[in-house]
Amino acid sequence: MGTWDYNIFWKETLNQLKSELSEQEFAMWFNMDYETSGEQSVVLSVPSAFYRDQVKQRYQSKIEAKLFDLSGQHIGVDFEVRQRRKEDSPKAPAKEAAAASSSLHDAVESGPKVYLSGASSHHRTESQKTERSSHPQLRKDYTFDNFVIGENNSFAANAAIAIAKNPGVAYNPCLIYGGVGLGKTHLMQAIGNLSWQEKGCKIIYITAENFTNEFVEAIKNSTTQHFKNKYRNADMLLIDDIHFLQKKNETQEELFHTFNALYDANKQIIFTCDRPVSELKNLSERLRSRFERGLNVDLQPPSYETRCAILSKKVESRGVAIPHEIINLIAKNISSNVRDLEASLTKLIAYAELTKKPVTLETAQQQLRDTFGSPKQNNVTIETIQKVVAEYFSLSYADLKGKKRTKAISFPRQLAMYIAREITEYSTTELGMEFGGRDHTTVMHGCQKIEERLKAEPSLESTIMKLTKLIKDYNS
Ligand code: ADP
Ligand code: MG
Repeated sequence: MGTWDYNIFWKETLNQLKSELSEQEFAMWFNMDYETSGEQSVVLSVPSAFYRDQVKQRYQSKIEAKLFDLSGQHIGVDFEVRQRRKEDSPKAPAKEAAAASSSLHDAVESGPKVYLSGASSHHRTESQKTERSSHPQLRKDYTFDNFVIGENNSFAANAAIAIAKNPGVAYNPCLIYGGVGLGKTHLMQAIGNLSWQEKGCKIIYITAENFTNEFVEAIKNSTTQHFKNKYRNADMLLIDDIHFLQKKNETQEELFHTFNALYDANKQIIFTCDRPVSELKNLSERLRSRFERGLNVDLQPPSYETRCAILSKKVESRGVAIPHEIINLIAKNISSNVRDLEASLTKLIAYAELTKKPVTLETAQQQLRDTFGSPKQNNVTIETIQKVVAEYFSLSYADLKGKKRTKAISFPRQLAMYIAREITEYSTTELGMEFGGRDHTTVMHGCQKIEERLKAEPSLESTIMKLTKLIKDYNS
């Protein structure tokens, strides 16, 4: 069996031609059987060479135009002369358990110590084993090889490997969530890259923002059918940053139907989001329930050791010499996300290249001072915290500050209090004043609530880190 399957489009093409042509013409020429699909092509079998030459001339372009209308893709048509009967077509490839497990090992060699095994790749054939060129929508370097696994992300990473090995089977759909720069896109694309290399799955990667833009374009140009077909025809759909879909009602509706079509066909669907789905606002309930189906895994900020390991790996892959003490210095000072970690390293490497001097501890400290900042940000105002938190939860600033005590407002308000306690020098009395003239015990109670919730719900930590970053970046 092939990974590309355009049979449904062929069937519909046939249906439509049947109604467009006279009965006689159709009966005469459409003695064709669907044989197989390749990448962007289908093969149809016909009774004889004469017949083949005739239909090629008469109908090939017509059929291709129909396939394009239906699938949104340029699918070429080839005709072959039918073999007598195909009773013994050896289409199922032989089992390759050994080959599959050794390549699994290759894929994770420098990464995790543990991984899920037992996933067999039954779609692989001999010819597919050769290296495929890179996928046009995926970053080449976002692989499992380049992904450092620590205790903060091992569950997500192992699930990701299992999915790449067995798309549509193991965990479908899968939602990877976590704060900015923690590796969501990297992990998602690593799944895509591995499935693409090993199985040649038809993979579509797109950000939710571009999905929305494409959909809007399709409506504008009356090409929604192409749009639908394109997405519903994927073996694996990767949609990055679904928090962007909040308030985009029509796109949500479209994605809901795309989801159902793919899910029913056992095609793998993967999403990423910057927060747990339960914290998304302005999302239709039925789409939310689809996101929550299957497996939801979170990425936490890396520990100090993992940060060191990530930096060492990046240093290695760039082939530069950065002493260990400097790696430790960066890892100690930047804890919130991997992107910042990388940026600091890049900055140092650029500095070393420009000045043609090796990086010393002193120059590193000096260069990175503005990136690190001081742990207590005295210049952050409570107003900034309130505005950022209110916006994040789609509340008004006035409501967050004010007296209303509904659950939808209390929790964000308590979170804002908690963050203010963490990153400013204000006392609980001063904070109480700033939060609608409340007593300092209210502030203490609020912070306590958040602390309790943090214990039960570790993912809240990444929400807090994200908010903290937004707050610190607010005025810059
Ligand atoms: P997100 O999508 O969560 O915002 P990205 O996937 O874009 O984050 O990751 C930000 C950067 O950090 C990327 O360059 C990525 O390669 C790197 N990165 C994140 N996590 C890891 C990790 N565990 N190992 C190696 N690099 C990582
Ligand atoms: Mg991302």
